[in-house]
Amino acid sequence: MTVVLKATSQQLHHMQEHYSSAPQVNLPKGTLFQAKIPGVTITGYHSGKVVFQGKLADKEAAQWQSVPVVSRRQQSTMRSSIDLPANFAQLAVLGSDEVGTGSYFGPLTTAAVFVSQSHLKQLQKLGVEDSKKLSDPVIIRIAKKIIQTCPYHVVNIKPHDYNRLIQKYNQAQLKAICHNFVLGKVLQKIAPTHPDAILIDQFVSPQTYFRYIKDQKPLISKNVYFKEKGESYHLAVAAASIVARYVSLQTMDELSTQAGLTLPIGAGTKVDQIAAKLLNAGLNLGEFAKLHFSNTQRAQQIAAKQ
Ligand code: MN
Repeated sequence: MTVVLKATSQQLHHMQEHYSSAPQVNLPKGTLFQAKIPGVTITGYHSGKVVFQGKLADKEAAQWQSVPVVSRRQQSTMRSSIDLPANFAQLAVLGSDEVGTGSYFGPLTTAAVFVSQSHLKQLQKLGVEDSKKLSDPVIIRIAKKIIQTCPYHVVNIKPHDYNRLIQKYNQAQLKAICHNFVLGKVLQKIAPTHPDAILIDQFVSPQTYFRYIKDQKPLISKNVYFKEKGESYHLAVAAASIVARYVSLQTMDELSTQAGLTLPIGAGTKVDQIAAKLLNAGLNLGEFAKLHFSNTQRAQQIAAKQ
């Protein structure tokens, strides 16, 4: 069995020191240290890669829990989880996700939920899964349970504020700031407990994400991982997505009541028609919709003809 870890330079030197009493063997090119202990050969590379080979490789590697662990076998079956710590789905994870970025009407809603090992079992019983597969009534029922069970935080940006903020930030940057904000809030709520990891449902590259939030305080960057379809790697992201959708649904209801008609989600032609109706009713579209979408021009054209 072969297990590969990615270590920071600090961790790498710590490991080198740890294994320095073990018999050193010949050092292949690029290696910082190599040690042989019963059942395992450990090779540390200057690149930060540490390879454990032998019968007891996984057991030995598991000691170094703070560094992401990936076994060769996992690499072949779950290629995309290559950089996540081993047994990721079983760890205590703080997850975040947002909803509303593709919808003309309604808010941008971002949620973070902390799911510890004991929460995991409860959430599984509740039927927490990908929010896109769940109907609105199920979302509402499960979300209420999640927020009773798990530490969480939501930031819900209604169109009125969204339209002001989008003058200053692009949408991905606004999302990044929201994710960082809700993650920071939940970390505060659960302190002194620390999650084993933080997983963000990925929407930009990690480099771009951190560039977008570089001026934010606190800046949450320790143990942060990114995955597209994050909900399939840990229930914390699935739970965050359900809570975000729940809050977004509530706001859609409020805005619909205010508008006097049901506001549809999405950004299709139905949306243009409804937006035109709002304009002709003399309502301020900026209270209901994300005005930078091209739906605004189309709605104005339709409204002008009516
Ligand atoms: Mn997402």
